[in-house]
Amino acid sequence: MRWIVLVLVVVAVAACASLLGRKPSEPVDGKPAHHRSDGRFVNTDGVAINKPFSALLKWRWNAPDVKPLALPLADNDPDYLRENRSDSTLTWIGHSAFLLQHRGVNVLTDPHFGERASPVSFAGPKRLVPPGLELDALPDIDFIVISHNHYDHLDRYTVEALRDKQTDNPPTWFVPLGQKAWFDDLGVSSVVELDWWQSAPFGEWEITAVPVHHWTSRSPFDRNTVLWAGWVMASDDFRFVHIGDSGYSADFKAIGDRLGPFDVAAVPIGAYLPRWFMKAAHMDPAEAVQVHRDLRATQSVAMHWGTFMLTDEPVDDPPKRLAAALAEAGVDAEEFVVMQHGETRPLTSAD
Ligand code: ZN
Ligand code: ZN
Repeated sequence: MRWIVLVLVVVAVAACASLLGRKPSEPVDGKPAHHRSDGRFVNTDGVAINKPFSALLKWRWNAPDVKPLALPLADNDPDYLRENRSDSTLTWIGHSAFLLQHRGVNVLTDPHFGERASPVSFAGPKRLVPPGLELDALPDIDFIVISHNHYDHLDRYTVEALRDKQTDNPPTWFVPLGQKAWFDDLGVSSVVELDWWQSAPFGEWEITAVPVHHWTSRSPFDRNTVLWAGWVMASDDFRFVHIGDSGYSADFKAIGDRLGPFDVAAVPIGAYLPRWFMKAAHMDPAEAVQVHRDLRATQSVAMHWGTFMLTDEPVDDPPKRLAAALAEAGVDAEEFVVMQHGETRPLTSAD
């Protein structure tokens, strides 16, 4: 496939460049432990996810031929969602993108309405299912959280479209530390960047960036120079966490202890094969069940599957493995649901 060749060439160049210019990566006095002396970030366990080029080649060489599969799109009611100022709802737009509505506040997570999860329009993982809501059908959005800068989570086309759609009342964007400059370059106003465990208010809400186990890169030269995060969004009567992209780690217990329990958690269940390559950066469904427990979530919702083909598992495998993992762990299947693309669910909070 052409995009794989392209990626391999780009990564080869990056590997050479980073070998030539490598500086030591050490903790910096007076700064949090994940800030390093070379200007890059590491995970809370000190690990920087940076697989050698040989490992990437080994993965691609042995990769099975995954068949594309377009899962069915659920019916929804964009008019109701646009008018709704009272009901709490969650709509899965696809991949890590949700529309969350609570007490008249409209929130988007990792919005992606583009055709591909890629830096270029002609190559890269292509969308299998149309977005579950059209961009033009969205209600006015109050705030948006971005977990990290990988192309399946931060899509330039989408950001520009949202910038142009709400010029009179722009949404506030919450982004991980170091990502604001990218938005500034696009002329996007109202961007708040936060380090792990930092919070900022939004009206009655408190928005907190939390650590997860992952990495960032949009080019061969910027690996881990910008932070990655999950997001806790809490109002008086509702606590929601979107954990972005992550391998399993001790971070979830810490998030659950410090900021849980949660009414709803959005947890990734896809992009896990092969495990030897993906485990550090992507949890599998069994680990997602453990995350559901660690977070102390009343309700978890699956994401990061069935929308773009990124890894080696069959497109419809994650929900099957999730069902098996829930049964194995003795967790009620209703506690961790898999939504259809486009599906809207009413939410209940703990009060
Ligand atoms: Zn990612
Ligand atoms: Zn991802």
